[in-house]
Amino acid sequence: MPFHPERLTRLRASLAASQLDALLVSALPNVRYLTGFSGSNALVLVTADDALLLTDFRYAAQVKLEVAPEVRVAIEQNSLWVRLWSELKALPRVEVIAFESAHVTHQDAARFVGEGAEGAAWKWRPALNLVEILRETKDVGELAQIRSAVQIAEHALGRTLPQVRVGMTELAVAGILEHELRNAGSEGFAFETIIAAGARAALPHARASSAVIAKGDLLLIDFGALHGGYCSDITRTFVVGRAADARQTEIHGIVREANGSASAGVRAGMRGRDADALARDYIHRRGFGEAFGHSLGHGIGLEIHEAPRLAKTAEAPLPPGAVVTIEPGIYLEGWGGVRIEDDVVLTSDGPEVLTTFDRTLSQLG
Ligand code: ZN
Ligand code: ZN
Repeated sequence: MPFHPERLTRLRASLAASQLDALLVSALPNVRYLTGFSGSNALVLVTADDALLLTDFRYAAQVKLEVAPEVRVAIEQNSLWVRLWSELKALPRVEVIAFESAHVTHQDAARFVGEGAEGAAWKWRPALNLVEILRETKDVGELAQIRSAVQIAEHALGRTLPQVRVGMTELAVAGILEHELRNAGSEGFAFETIIAAGARAALPHARASSAVIAKGDLLLIDFGALHGGYCSDITRTFVVGRAADARQTEIHGIVREANGSASAGVRAGMRGRDADALARDYIHRRGFGEAFGHSLGHGIGLEIHEAPRLAKTAEAPLPPGAVVTIEPGIYLEGWGGVRIEDDVVLTSDGPEVLTTFDRTLSQLG
């Protein structure tokens, strides 16, 4: 990921506005966003005129490839925390330090007053979402990565569907899809692939299981690709082994209508709850309000679930440049479920739907 100095500039402005001398960044997606470093062990300290990345020996070569010279790097053989104290002591004007309260364990918070930190005058302040808020708005490069992740996912899905047959297990279908994702260039899986057949499709977050796909089953497939560290997230629902029956067609039609009108109506500046209502009110009017028990969508980026939220309780406006999912569903216990999920970028000119894969209730096998 190329280095983006403006991200540090924006973060420093928000630190100054909150009278904070520094932020200790411990969430790895935030580390990656600010410095480009994609390793699994790091702390970053951002002050008004300095950015310091602490990591361990395993990443000594990787940081040279990923981290720009604007970020100071310290390779620590023993404890990142002990090293942090000595680095902090060399920055005497840094007193009020924020930490990411959603991403620091209790054990690590105890270190703020523990060994090596005794006698220091630091004042630690819990902070929430200082970097996450910056990440809501995607820049051109980030959007290009998400577009690639969408294309990879759709290509893999297109290769997978002709291989699905009655009698396969959900796990077998997940294996085919994940193989096709890798072949198409996915760096990994944006989250654990959801393959849910028949009545199991009523479980919105079903893991793929050894359940066998029967003739006439609905098959719900929810998965994502990873490209340049960025996620895509797409769901389609199919019927296997025969044409859809009247009930399947009716419920799929309602979800598709809800998905289409929300994707077309969502706007930057709209509150998350109003976006959620675009689909929820329609499903409610059609008599299935109780069967749509989760929120309409979420931001995607370096993480599969990130800000902003499109939910009944989301008061915050959706920022321009956010990429969000639109994923209404109807789930009926004992019968099954239908979800259709697309990824949408909220441009200043309106929504652009990135996912283009066919949304009809097509027959597989
Ligand atoms: Zn999904
Ligand atoms: Zn999703």
